[in-house]
Amino acid sequence: MKKCPGCGGRLAQAGGMRKGVTYYSLRCEKCGEEIMTLDQAASYLDEAQKAKLVKLSKWGESLAVRIPAEAVRKYGLNAKEKARILFEKDGFKIVPA
Ligand SMILES: [Zn+2]
Repeated sequence: MKKCPGCGGRLAQAGGMRKGVTYYSLRCEKCGEEIMTLDQAASYLDEAQKAKLVKLSKWGESLAVRIPAEAVRKYGLNAKEKARILFEKDGFKIVPA
């Protein structure tokens, strides 16, 4: 078992979501310091590079998200199709219905 470089406490599996991207880390049970192994950091960077940054547009009282053509092709989406918004702890995701 790895030890915390700061206090020598026990490191436990941890993780969460940062900027919409899930990450895995190790958190010290004693001081709360959170660290990533090289593999965890590489995995986070891979996932972050796949995440598309999109701009929100105003549409009446609502906001609209333009789904990139790449995603339209990849998931076979069509205009006027229905999709679901699934609310999660740190945001939401849109899933074709
Ligand atoms: Zn510690």
